[in-house]
Amino acid sequence: MNICMIGAGYVGLVSAACFSEFGWNVTCVDKDPQRLEELNAGKSPIYEPGLDDLLQRNMQAGRLRFTNELGPAAKAADVILLAVGTPMRRGDGYADLSYVYAAVEELAPHIEGFTVIVTKSTVPVGTSREIEERLRAARPDAEFAVCSNPEFLREGSAIGDFMHPDRVLVGVDDDRGRAVMNRLYKPLALRNAPVMFVGRESAELAKYAANAFLAMKISFINEIADLCEVVGAGVQEVASAIGKDRRIGDKFLHPGPGYGGSCFPKDVSALIRTARENKSPVSIIEQVQRVNDERKIAMAHRIEAAAGGSVRGLTVGLLGVTFKPNTDDMRDAPSLTIVPMLQERGATVRVVDPQGRKQADPLLPGVIWCDSALEAAEGADVLVTVTEWNEFRGLDLAAAKARMRGDVLVDLRNVFSAELAHAAGLRYTAVGRKPDE
Ligand code: NAD
Repeated sequence: MNICMIGAGYVGLVSAACFSEFGWNVTCVDKDPQRLEELNAGKSPIYEPGLDDLLQRNMQAGRLRFTNELGPAAKAADVILLAVGTPMRRGDGYADLSYVYAAVEELAPHIEGFTVIVTKSTVPVGTSREIEERLRAARPDAEFAVCSNPEFLREGSAIGDFMHPDRVLVGVDDDRGRAVMNRLYKPLALRNAPVMFVGRESAELAKYAANAFLAMKISFINEIADLCEVVGAGVQEVASAIGKDRRIGDKFLHPGPGYGGSCFPKDVSALIRTARENKSPVSIIEQVQRVNDERKIAMAHRIEAAAGGSVRGLTVGLLGVTFKPNTDDMRDAPSLTIVPMLQERGATVRVVDPQGRKQADPLLPGVIWCDSALEAAEGADVLVTVTEWNEFRGLDLAAAKARMRGDVLVDLRNVFSAELAHAAGLRYTAVGRKPDE
């Protein structure tokens, strides 16, 4: 099967590499020359565990290639997948579909033979239909079907998620399209992955509903964490007690500085817009968004409070800036709210992140970059965990304290405990517990 993947980002690159691992012949098209240069040298331009190996193996086997030339790849393709970005549009919070429609316009002249065009990007309800209309207008002669195939992989565990999905969701209204999609995912179906065929609108909306639900779980547990602090409960105990109920489930019940990343904030926002436009508002989700926006700001205030009410003239050592561990992705990371607030209030911020520096550097001007958590603790009055990278979990708190000027540890991810902190001579503030508990 010949596959053309448009977009070599987190989703396009991982999906392209995994499809080629199935034995399909994949050409991945991107416009970013630097990205292509790195890829053609066998190196992933993004940090994703296991991706370098997968890329190299399949490129060497001749099943995976990268190019900026769409024409030949699209002509040869049985399936063309769109995996370009759909960021939040400035001003109105709707999904910016300009990359999607630009790619559709570019591919239209090259459709040859029956071709299935697939939106793997997260796109609002109705987009597949709109793509079909645009293609039909541009190429009344062409034979094609447009399907929706939203991607559910998570950065940091993307390859495992793609290879062992909870489900593959295909929205298709056309028998020929359905047969091609069936074949595309046969290798996963043979491994017992559920491949679900639904209507296009259902597939498109399901992706937004899934992300909004997960965002809701996070905002929910963050509010419960706040309540725990006031009433003397422990959020970890509450979360594990409710998580044992299979109707609730134990995932996504970890309180923290608010959700971020390339998907939840923009998808929540786009769903709210879609719902409002269709006069069927999702008021719960609107509240989820508000709670999350306030959460990030509240975390900066929490650091200030732990520091004695002000961070003016103080040094804050900050562990982790990416929106979650095991990725270099900085899109909508809580650190992008927290760090500037601390700086505005007069703090010097020392920062360490195992993979985030390249993306974060232009986004966090004025911070001092460090190579290790201990270096970030050097001279710090306050040490803060923002992203729970594994290597921070093993931090020797006594060694950190010895380098600090002050003695405050603010643990926004609950990776340490009051016992450990106290043993190291640190005062401890976590989330969902009273300070020093
Ligand atoms: P990304 O920004 O990492 O990658 C997009 C790539 O597309 C870039 O490399 C860009 O150069 C390329 N591109 C844009 N227009 C192009 C064109 N006309 N021709 C060729 N290349 C073009 O984006 P991403 O994080 O991979 O997300 C892609 C889509 O998948 C989004 O809709 C997103 O919501 C969705 N998604 C993302 C994730 C995730 O974890 N990142 C998970 C599920 C779904």
